[in-house]
Amino acid sequence: MKHSDSNNQIEAFKSAINKSKKIVGFTGAGISTESGIPDYRSKGGIWDKFQPVYFEEFISDEGKRTLYWQRKQELWKDLSIALPNKGHLFFKELYDKGILAGLITQNIDGLHEKSGLPKDIIVNLHGTNLEVRCLDCGFTVPSEDVFDGLDLEQGNPLCPECKGLFKPDTISFGQQLRGEDLDRANDLAISCDLMVVVGSTLVVQPASSIPSIAKANGAILAIITLSETPIDNHADFIFHLKMDAFINLIQS
Ligand SMILES: [Zn+2]
Repeated sequence: MKHSDSNNQIEAFKSAINKSKKIVGFTGAGISTESGIPDYRSKGGIWDKFQPVYFEEFISDEGKRTLYWQRKQELWKDLSIALPNKGHLFFKELYDKGILAGLITQNIDGLHEKSGLPKDIIVNLHGTNLEVRCLDCGFTVPSEDVFDGLDLEQGNPLCPECKGLFKPDTISFGQQLRGEDLDRANDLAISCDLMVVVGSTLVVQPASSIPSIAKANGAILAIITLSETPIDNHADFIFHLKMDAFINLIQS
């Protein structure tokens, strides 16, 4: 069933939310732009300006490692002060009502954690910038412990436990998504009764297949994103809006 009239669509969406017992959120870069986090993959984004450092290069090349850390240090200045916005709080409110079963995100900005969602219901498909992890022993520390006072001229950060390579806990170019995260995302998609996609163009595989899995397993699918997605035709609700404009509509 498609809802074309926009007022009816909003009312029908609200009613679907109220009837749901197990909602899963799926978010991409578009949810965080209102928090001042640029969409790194979009045109003019950071990856347009710089050659990415591939995972293999990070492992094997000290100079590339420094370059990577320099960029992460630059990014941390924005991330450490960014605050969750209405979009993130929308999901936090669903959680407070006891109807949010999980939140899958392609973002690495940690804003869902900052909104107050418990860590264990969040699946960070592309990892997170909130933590730094040792590639050898897995020892993990909060990012501020590494970035506060970081001086790269003294060398790249190493694990205090085993002297292995420290790396912000995000998935780099050339690095596989974690199997356990994909499994958790699949389980959530299969078991939810409503999936709400916000701010993702759903083009980065394999993450983008998750909403289709939810739909194929009987969930209602709602997509709130500025641009069209390849699966708009399969969605029950489509709102081509920025999330803050959408929130204004559902609250009015
Ligand atoms: Zn270590």
